[in-house]
Amino acid sequence: MTPDQLDPNIDVIVVGCGNAAMNAALAARESGATVAILEAAPETARSGNSAFTGGAFRFIFENVDDLLRLAPDIADLDLKNIDFGTYTKEQYYDDIGRLTEYRSDPDLTEVLISNSYEAALWVAKHGVRFQPALGRQAFNMDGKFKFWGGLACHLLGGGAQLTKTLHEAVAAAGIPVLYETQARSLLQGDDRITGIRVSHKGRMHDLRSKALVLACGGFESNPEMRARYLGPNWDLAKVRGTRYNTGFGHKMAMDVGAAMTGHWSGCHAVQWDMNAPEFGDISIGDKFQKHNYPFGIIVNANGERFVNEGEDFHSYTYAKCGAAVLKQPGLFAWQVFDQKATRLLRDEYRIPRITKEVANTFEELSVKLTGVDPQGFLRTVEEFNNAPRPDIEFNPNIRDGLCTSGLKINKTNWANKLDQPPYHAYGVTAGVTFTFGGLKISTEAQVLDSAGSGLRGLYAAGEIVGGLYYHNYGSGTGLVAGVVFGRLAGEGAAREAMRNH
Ligand SMILES: Cc1cc2nc3c(=O)[nH]c(=O)nc-3n(C[C@H](O)[C@H](O)[C@H](O)COP(=O)(O)OP(=O)(O)OC[C@H]3O[C@@H](n4cnc5c(N)ncnc54)[C@H](O)[C@@H]3O)c2cc1C
Repeated sequence: MTPDQLDPNIDVIVVGCGNAAMNAALAARESGATVAILEAAPETARSGNSAFTGGAFRFIFENVDDLLRLAPDIADLDLKNIDFGTYTKEQYYDDIGRLTEYRSDPDLTEVLISNSYEAALWVAKHGVRFQPALGRQAFNMDGKFKFWGGLACHLLGGGAQLTKTLHEAVAAAGIPVLYETQARSLLQGDDRITGIRVSHKGRMHDLRSKALVLACGGFESNPEMRARYLGPNWDLAKVRGTRYNTGFGHKMAMDVGAAMTGHWSGCHAVQWDMNAPEFGDISIGDKFQKHNYPFGIIVNANGERFVNEGEDFHSYTYAKCGAAVLKQPGLFAWQVFDQKATRLLRDEYRIPRITKEVANTFEELSVKLTGVDPQGFLRTVEEFNNAPRPDIEFNPNIRDGLCTSGLKINKTNWANKLDQPPYHAYGVTAGVTFTFGGLKISTEAQVLDSAGSGLRGLYAAGEIVGGLYYHNYGSGTGLVAGVVFGRLAGEGAAREAMRNH
């Protein structure tokens, strides 16, 4: 469908067709509204960052029965040797509080956490399937798995399958998607938002609706906005996902008086292959990421370590590592592992398109690490290997306390010596995932103005919303937040549209 063909009496227009948008559209439709989706990308590149995700999905659960409702196949596993643990509301609050340095909006956080399991059931109802995250969030130690990091299940097939399934649900609900239709500005009447101005194949169109949902992602794909809001050198970062999240949603909401909130100079950014393309490549998905650094060391161009690689499980540190790499000379780093660690490395370390070096000695490796001072690197390895350690066993399933002491930056867990060749090294830079600053919304996902009143007819969900993430992020929160607030936004928009009939 093209903009010319859209019903001028449509109830709800949803901008974007990622996870947040499609859940908003489904919720609006199920609330009785007629709905259309606008997508800036062509069909072949649709669904934004959601299509790139690995499928981590963070929700509360009390026991295995809660997981079995989502992933019945768990019943076929050797359950006596798998400890799924629990992930309670309190643990979720603690994680978000600690990671955001207690800045996350308390009301939105409450809505997110208390609806997180419901969100999993909702997507499952729409055909999305879950699987236990064995090997990713639990390692096999002497035949037993113990889960860590709050994530027991992933979405089966990751973002590709998630978005495919949601598109099928959207199509079955009779919701049209208008591709290559980029939203540019909001149409504002005397007392409410009345529609949206879009560009389609070089022509502008004004589309009317009774309510609107903005779910068009962050501004991470816009280097000008990255430099302006995140700061120097962020324009040089690689983008992990879509090229279409260029911040139009933020700009058009600002223009109608929406309040902005959250960590505008903050973003989610990870260690990402230094030779990855400028934007994400959907055939690789999330596999340019390199998340197993807790089991090795990371060095910069001086050959020096610059973070505590073992501060916590990667789920709680990976999203701030990109910023740490971006601050290094040349904006790159190398992760180094020995053979004790290589068996723990995830599939993302075994893709063919990878910046990798292997050597039998550190002397040999030191000259292979492009851009790194070999002498500095050899000094760092020697100091790291000679640093005193407690006499305890390495265990990747717990914060094992196997730490160094006496170093300028100590490694506080999993600090095995690097002494079993061949040594493997992986070149990384900063890959930005999404930005943290965004629109201020109510607990019902209505966009607020600077006086705190709801802007009539305007709702928002997904990464365009600000206030949830500051400084850091717990893996698997973005998709859940998109479902929770997407549903609320869709229901709110539908309610308002019905009132305007
Ligand atoms: C490589 C990678 C891996 C990730 N892994 C995970 C994970 O495992 N678990 C997790 O929870 N999160 C993960 N994330 C984060 C996750 O992708 C986001 O939290 C989530 O998908 C955001 O959903 P969204 O709907 O807000 O935005 P998106 O999915 O990015 O959708 C935004 C949509 O808006 C469209 N759009 C943008 N501007 C306009 C405009 N002006 N007009 C019309 N359309 C527009 C875009 O084309 C896109 O379709 C990952 C992200 C990346 C990049």
